[in-house]
Amino acid sequence: MSPWARVAVTAGLLATLGGCGDDRDPPADAAVAPGPMLCVFDYDLTLSSHACPATDARAGYHCRVTGCATYGWHEQCLGLDAQAAIASCVARGAYVGIASHADVDACWVDKVTPIVSEAQFPAWTSSPRYAARDADWHYPALDDRAHWNCADCPYTMEGGLPKPEGIARVMRAFGLDPAAAADRARVLFWDDEPANIAAVTATMPEVTTVLVPRNGATGEAGGCGITQREIDAGWDRARGAR
Ligand SMILES: [Mg+2]
Repeated sequence: MSPWARVAVTAGLLATLGGCGDDRDPPADAAVAPGPMLCVFDYDLTLSSHACPATDARAGYHCRVTGCATYGWHEQCLGLDAQAAIASCVARGAYVGIASHADVDACWVDKVTPIVSEAQFPAWTSSPRYAARDADWHYPALDDRAHWNCADCPYTMEGGLPKPEGIARVMRAFGLDPAAAADRARVLFWDDEPANIAAVTATMPEVTTVLVPRNGATGEAGGCGITQREIDAGWDRARGAR
């Protein structure tokens, strides 16, 4: 042990002893493991939008007619504040992942590669950590198929995969343990499907979940995607958020 490490251990021991007279329950924040927070986003109607007057055909929202279908429709733009949502995570030094029910191969050229080729989320793909494999941690390249749909992949587009498992994949990708409550408490998850939110709440209760509004009860009527209100709701509620 180095002298500096010994000093740190001694200081920690003294701090522990100093707290012996305090028998109150630890604050809820004590259940959050140290380290970066983890942002996990659904894609369709969360990072993307459809039939939203505020994004349709508007510059800056990367609107396109997709080859793959989403709820039966093909017109897609970025979510209203999707860029701000990603930026809110990058600015906080948080990890970022995707857990989506889209079909990654069918939608590869419509939902995946344009993220990089069109710089749809510049805060993410221009970050010094993007694809920086020599850094202490990095955002894995989005346009590398090997980073999608595996058990420890940061990005998933796979119909039928339960969202808790999609989140677990992202957690593993960044070295978090999905079985550890204190690691789950580091996760924020945004999704427009109430059933997905319910599934995550039931099996990963420590995850901070935020429901993104739609135009109607199902995705068929579209929606504007994530807005600043849901971004703020997540960061306001996340335990241990920094
Ligand atoms: Mg969705």
